[in-house]
Amino acid sequence: MRISLAVIGLLTAVGSYATEHQADQVFLHTDAVAKTAPAAWITQQWPVEIAARQLTTNTDKLNLTLSGGVRLVAQKLSARLLEDGTLTWHGLLGEAGKEPAAAGTLDNALHRIILVSTNGRITGTLRWQHRTYRLHYLSKSDSYMLDEVNDAGLPSEDEHGQENAVIRVLVVATKTASESGEDLQGLVRLGIAESNSTFENSEIKLSLELAGVMEVDYTSIGGWQIDLIRLQDKSDGYMDEVPPERDRLKADVVVLLDDAHPDFCGRARATPADEDTALVAVNLRCIGVSRYIMAHEIAHLAGSAHEYRPKSGYEYGHGYHIKSGGTVMTSIEDAPVRLPFWSDPKRFMEWERMGDPATADNRRLLEERKWVMAGFR
Ligand SMILES: [Zn+2]
Repeated sequence: MRISLAVIGLLTAVGSYATEHQADQVFLHTDAVAKTAPAAWITQQWPVEIAARQLTTNTDKLNLTLSGGVRLVAQKLSARLLEDGTLTWHGLLGEAGKEPAAAGTLDNALHRIILVSTNGRITGTLRWQHRTYRLHYLSKSDSYMLDEVNDAGLPSEDEHGQENAVIRVLVVATKTASESGEDLQGLVRLGIAESNSTFENSEIKLSLELAGVMEVDYTSIGGWQIDLIRLQDKSDGYMDEVPPERDRLKADVVVLLDDAHPDFCGRARATPADEDTALVAVNLRCIGVSRYIMAHEIAHLAGSAHEYRPKSGYEYGHGYHIKSGGTVMTSIEDAPVRLPFWSDPKRFMEWERMGDPATADNRRLLEERKWVMAGFR
């Protein structure tokens, strides 16, 4: 065990831990001092060591040590190897030595970890005891960082957005995104995996699939609304290489991945959208932080809106609040805690109904509109 840890440079950091717990290898470990948070919605940030090679489709269990010696165990719920070699691994978190929360409880629904392994690097998101953490790789320092997210401090999404349908997504990274030093390939795949987890939780037979990631020599200046208009226009001299690439890759939706507007998590070009306006912008820092941002923005394209207001989107396609938080379409201002579920009057969480048939049934809306969206290309 010590040898395998030493290979990945962990010997010094976890030496004492390894001695105490000879039987268990640690996948994620930090006992480092927290660094200064780089954004308002990050409360703390720790350098972490990751034993990336522990994560395979066959991994049943992962040990995690968070700051303060909190020891967690992630038990595999599912693992999938995609055609491009990306592994997505979903697990249920519990305290080491204790049973995880029982199925059907809110804790069971929230205490989850999603890990994406691509090109040998790990990107991930986990929720534990009302806290959200985001694991990401930084290419500049060749190291991993774990951010603790302050749900209430997250930027808002811009106001203006029974067979499995697949919506193919082309991600277009702006110059700012490419220069961010983040692992874009990992973040993009995590954004898709966390989005798909919400559809699975709500038993919506819909999934996002990555059609491709391309980088453009474009820097956002005036705000995402202008960027999305430029993205749509095929011959204005801005990002004109994107529409033909979208056709070639048969991408139903285009996601502009950006790092230029820290005050916003995302924006949809239109609600509802047609094939020409099926474009959204996403702040890469809002992936993996419990906003399920790609799914949220793409659902705007389907016609979903935030909290119920008459004549905003489809009458029945709004987000919904229960006492423990809001569904995926709720706005950050009204629901700092976003649950990985869609509004659905037929679903209950700890005896609370999660929707309203007249105003808040995103599940119905997505089921009705998914084929339109999946048929844009
Ligand atoms: Zn929104």
